[in-house]
Amino acid sequence: MSKVLITFAGGVGSVTGANFLLQVDDTKILIDCGLIQGSREADLKNREPFPYEPRDIDYLFVTHSHMDHIGRIPKLVREGFRGEIYSTPVTKEIATFMFADALSVMRIHEKERDLAPLYEQQDVDQALSQWKEIPYHESKTFGGFSVFARDAGHILGSAMLEFTLDIGGAQKKLVFTGDLGNSPSLLLRDTEKITDADYLVMESVYGDRNHENKDEREEKFAQIVKETIARNGTLVIPAFSLERTQMILYLLNNLMEDGHVPEVPVYLDSPLAIKITEVYGRVSKHFNDEVKKEILGGDDIFDFPTLKRTMKREESEKIAHIPGAKIVIAGSGMSEGGRVAYHEADFLPDPNNTLLLVGYQGVGTLGRKLIEGLKSVKIHKKEIKVRARIEEILGFSSHKDMDHLIEFVEHTKGTVKKVFVCMGETKSSTFLAQRLRDYVGVNAVVPEEGDVIEFN
Ligand SMILES: [Zn+2]
Repeated sequence: MSKVLITFAGGVGSVTGANFLLQVDDTKILIDCGLIQGSREADLKNREPFPYEPRDIDYLFVTHSHMDHIGRIPKLVREGFRGEIYSTPVTKEIATFMFADALSVMRIHEKERDLAPLYEQQDVDQALSQWKEIPYHESKTFGGFSVFARDAGHILGSAMLEFTLDIGGAQKKLVFTGDLGNSPSLLLRDTEKITDADYLVMESVYGDRNHENKDEREEKFAQIVKETIARNGTLVIPAFSLERTQMILYLLNNLMEDGHVPEVPVYLDSPLAIKITEVYGRVSKHFNDEVKKEILGGDDIFDFPTLKRTMKREESEKIAHIPGAKIVIAGSGMSEGGRVAYHEADFLPDPNNTLLLVGYQGVGTLGRKLIEGLKSVKIHKKEIKVRARIEEILGFSSHKDMDHLIEFVEHTKGTVKKVFVCMGETKSSTFLAQRLRDYVGVNAVVPEEGDVIEFN
């Protein structure tokens, strides 16, 4: 009989910083090692020592390639972790681009705030050298446990990790959901059903809220594109480079090919998004059936004649001087820095232009201020008048909402003994846990950071 313990080292009471330590007898296993983001204290918290000795960790399993799940891996390596890292092949590939981008963004940020580097290129290289692959649906056995990856439908390559191990003398299933997709997704397969988990460690980003109707999102998107073009304006879309950008490109590709909107120039103005879109273009096998059919029919779903990829900064700077209707997709998603801030400074003062926000805007970010209707904002120390239309579509979220998180747990109702509700703000996690107890009748708890629980 094994002694099995879980430590909630991060990603509890917070959406970001996912980090769970699973101990099976003497084997120490981490699940995700994410960056803490969004709060004022994040810089300091990311620099604190881990609550375990990185040298003692044997394995690290990664659910997906968002920074709040992978962002502290090079730091773990820098502090002595030399065990094997496992993820789906796509997650590893995207992670390499995410780290390269993070390094350059971090260098600027660290200089501004006079912080010591969290990690450096050599730590990223070392981490990637320890990184192995575990494809979907191929069980891999280690000493004392086995792991199976199922599609989480959240972003390309995202996986729920199913651990089978001996608890109380019997084989039990402990599932780490990572982030769970907002199925049906435009591009990805649906989140796989889990029907036989004994324990769940799940996300709860939208544990207390439902999304707006999904059927309306595409119609609203097409409408905004059409109206802006009709005014001969520029549509600026601040977009996250991973998943959101590819959804937008896919939609624009279809709208233009089907003749629903005029073929105006579209600038994909983000080197990271360009690279990640190339990965998306290569791995069509992970898309949903409808998208696969389009690809088989010969369509390059992320490319169309008017799409221009601007890798270089000089090319990016020229966009402001190009007359006529156009669409600009650039990062960052919350308009905090990145190339989109320059476009916002150029295009926000003109009422013919539109700024379209397609994702969650954190408190205090420029994106949030624009949603709140500020008529003047500061960008790069300059006062910018906001006369452009500000639009928002929330239906493109890549997280399940409250009702769908509940439905996800319901499938496993027959077997599940305990649900650990994590990876959400406390308010959201607590609300979801209460609903799971009341509506599904399962034992759901909200762990606190540092909690250690023994399975028996
Ligand atoms: Zn995620």
